[in-house]
Amino acid sequence: MNPLRRHRLATAAVLAAVLAAGCQRQAPSIHRHEFLAFGTLVELSLAGVDPELAQEAVATVRQDLEFMHFAWHAWKPGPLGRTNKLLATGAWFSGNPSVLPLIRRARELSAASGGLFNPALGNLVRLWGFQADAPPGAPPKPEAVAALLRDLPAMDDIEIRGVRMRGRHPALRLDLGAMAKGWAVDRISENLKRLGVENAIVNAGGDLRAFGRAGDRPWRIGIRHPRKAGAIASVTIEGDEAVFTSGDYERYFEYRGRRYHHILDPRTGYPATGTQSVTVIHHDGALADAAATALFVAGPEGWRETAAKMGVRQVMLIDAGGGIHLTPEMARRLTFEMEVPPPRVEPLP
Ligand code: ADP
Ligand code: MG
Repeated sequence: MNPLRRHRLATAAVLAAVLAAGCQRQAPSIHRHEFLAFGTLVELSLAGVDPELAQEAVATVRQDLEFMHFAWHAWKPGPLGRTNKLLATGAWFSGNPSVLPLIRRARELSAASGGLFNPALGNLVRLWGFQADAPPGAPPKPEAVAALLRDLPAMDDIEIRGVRMRGRHPALRLDLGAMAKGWAVDRISENLKRLGVENAIVNAGGDLRAFGRAGDRPWRIGIRHPRKAGAIASVTIEGDEAVFTSGDYERYFEYRGRRYHHILDPRTGYPATGTQSVTVIHHDGALADAAATALFVAGPEGWRETAAKMGVRQVMLIDAGGGIHLTPEMARRLTFEMEVPPPRVEPLP
């Protein structure tokens, strides 16, 4: 084996060990804590903090996560559940302050995505069985999908005036799963900074926001390969950035030899085809999260146009055949950690 290849493999092995879910390379004097929230493991890494501040930060993050998990849960009772019930009535009501700002932002981002990111399709997610702790065993009946698709609700079916809101579509049911994690890491990062934390990673199952540095070196983030164990690429964080990936490997089931995953195409009512994963880097976590989902749906043909409309410039899309598509801005950032087919660098319109 040639030495270069051996070196690459060794690097990949190290990364695979510590970056399994897209976490960061180990460095000394880093405090790490894990929480369970949003159906995933949330890992907090803190650098350059004294034990007292670390303790305070951990307690704050734990409380924030517990509250957010409760407030935005798509199918358990809580503020979002109540909002969904009231939206279905069509009457005006006062929006809950823990969900109203999210709904406003989700409406803007849905419009920017041309409706490919559509958190109003909770009923479709539920029909597919993804509003449950475990993925279902079989797809829904085509007639049931077709019936929902005939008149699919959209975010502009929600009318908002100040803190009052109402729904204008009886089938509208919010599922903020494609953006809530991004919004959450933004709020948590904000709170950490207010406490005086200057260097941290908030990593929610591979989707993360990182700011500052890991001591004398920058934070280094792994991006998970959609089909193989370990990181396909790594990126060095500059300043304060969110790195979000939507993949068909996160939540899926197989039925008669086909994979059915949890990212649904509002145009067809079925899991989006053509893509294995999309990674977006942006300083705004909510935007990075919503855009990763929207670009996944847009697929290898439409992703560049959707990225331009949503205002994201650092994107990697891995298509169904394993082909890698990069914006020039992303190409400059990534270091590949595995042997990959030559990536196609495609400028945005
Ligand atoms: P993950 O949460 O695994 O990081 P995403 O951010 O892509 O993945 O969010 C996927 C979730 O978003 C689904 O589980 C579902 O609840 C919801 N969802 C699925 N399709 C769409 C869509 N087209 N627009 C908005 N939300 C969606
Ligand atoms: Mg998303």
